[in-house]
Amino acid sequence: MKFSRLTEYFEELDATTKRLEMFDILSRLFRESSSKDIDKIIYLCQGQLLPAFKGIEIGMSEKLLIKALSEAASVPTKKVEETFKKTGDLGETAEGLLKEGGEGLAIEKAYNELMDIAYTAGTGSVEKKISLLSNLLKGTSSKEGKYIARFVLGRLRLGIGDPTVLEALALSKGDRGLRPGLERAYNLCSDLGLIAKTFLAKGMEGVRKFHVQVGYPIRMALCERLPSSEDIISKIGKAAIEAKYDGLRIQIHKDKHNIEMFSRNLERTTHMFPEIKEAVTSHLQAKKAILEGEALAYNEATGELFPFQITIQRKRKHGIEELAKEYPLKFFAFELLYADDEDYTERPYIERRKKLESIIRKNPVIEPAEMFVTDNPQNIYEYFEKAVERGLEGVVAKRLDAPYSAGARSFNWIKLKRSYRGELADTIDVCIVGYFRGKGARARFGVGALLGAVYDEKTDAFKTVSKVGSGFTEDELAELKKILDKVALTHRHPRVDSAMEPDIWLEPKYVITVTADEITRSPSHTAGRDKEGVGYALRFPRAVGFLRGDKKPEDANTVKEIIEIFDHQRKVKVS
Ligand code: ATP
Repeated sequence: MKFSRLTEYFEELDATTKRLEMFDILSRLFRESSSKDIDKIIYLCQGQLLPAFKGIEIGMSEKLLIKALSEAASVPTKKVEETFKKTGDLGETAEGLLKEGGEGLAIEKAYNELMDIAYTAGTGSVEKKISLLSNLLKGTSSKEGKYIARFVLGRLRLGIGDPTVLEALALSKGDRGLRPGLERAYNLCSDLGLIAKTFLAKGMEGVRKFHVQVGYPIRMALCERLPSSEDIISKIGKAAIEAKYDGLRIQIHKDKHNIEMFSRNLERTTHMFPEIKEAVTSHLQAKKAILEGEALAYNEATGELFPFQITIQRKRKHGIEELAKEYPLKFFAFELLYADDEDYTERPYIERRKKLESIIRKNPVIEPAEMFVTDNPQNIYEYFEKAVERGLEGVVAKRLDAPYSAGARSFNWIKLKRSYRGELADTIDVCIVGYFRGKGARARFGVGALLGAVYDEKTDAFKTVSKVGSGFTEDELAELKKILDKVALTHRHPRVDSAMEPDIWLEPKYVITVTADEITRSPSHTAGRDKEGVGYALRFPRAVGFLRGDKKPEDANTVKEIIEIFDHQRKVKVS
């Protein structure tokens, strides 16, 4: 396929506000793609060159793009800057400055050239990147240039999530029933391009053969919630009770001396944890393994756990070694998914745990998470109280005979967190789908409140649940405006369902954590709307922290969870 054909699809996707139409456009695109191109097409549609876990970044700023554009269009940089000022979008700027027509590039060629730019590193790489990009732009038409410019800045703004791709792939064969099979493969390898390529080349039969592989992150299992220890025992019976550590989740892949680590969001985070990498190399007694756990700053002398704010400092590019000396991390392992050629994901929890304990040689960095088995709610409650006193978040109860539920939130894991009076027991993660400029004093920041939505798995849409105006500092509001304007849209995104009209619509891309007093029924929001048009809303919402870099839009809480929390809340009030 020609890259110009792909940009025609991008234009269609850009223009639509209808969810079903978006699926239709994508499935037509996939139907028209060859197995040679489909992986690249999928990555490009999602604004990336490879899945996030490969850690490839194109590494070009507006400034560099402006230089490349000026070279490609043979105009002074000043002219590019002036046009950019008028359009506010370097994509449109490129479209206006580059010439019409030309032969057009094959997708493979455009993709390979973009890859070359991404892989250019070291001394002189800035100049080299500019010249590679200007060469690429010289060979493209103005329309192609528009999308290449947006792509290199990470501002394609199409908002195509992974579930959207899976659904459209199934629909491209006219059979939604294929989705669960595709999803299974996706949960095991997290690489949509690879799945689509196999699907087109070898059909469902090829896809069914996908299995766990070291180096390909497994989509992480997540917890359901219940309001009390009694509820937990009546739901799953005798259970393993583990401490819920408040740190950073890591999935570690070991292949002899090659160690890779992935975040909750399946991004490559290996560089952030040098001491854990070292400990895995020396003390994990398996040549190949995949394990999961929580890393957190820990004071060995006092046995004290440091708060999350200390651990999170690891999320940076430089100065990690110094930080590792000041606040060394401990890794509390709670899952074993693979060991020496054996896939453990299908084995019961208790077997996985036994194997996990057996391969960790005693060392100061890695240890199995605290755990005991009980069927007595009182024991859980007592442990929970002590855990919270020690600075833990609560407990996670795990069903003894359950497999590892990759990519799913299920009752195989149930979390129990402390509930404070007048506050929801758990925070809610919402995806930002628009913002309001704000009135009075607030107006000077340009952002007064955010329109937050939860994810509806059934329809692959974001449904609003809250208008969040408090919890941000003045600096944060100014920063938010800068970040959010880069994903601003001229109309509602097709995956957003809202009864409110914000001043600015946004591509569903960023997630924030919100706390609230409670969940109420409300006609203003679309999350969980019933026939009478009454949905659910957060009462007195306030943001906690800033944008969540570790969560994708689909990792926001779901409509189903909001309804569950609403139901628990009523139950707790009555008892
Ligand atoms: P949160 O914002 O509470 O982390 P979440 O949606 O990311 O929400 P939850 O389902 O609430 O995740 O809780 C699971 C998280 O708790 C895991 O992602 C992991 O990081 C952390 N965790 C800490 N200790 C454990 C444990 N023993 N077993 C499983 N997960 C644990």
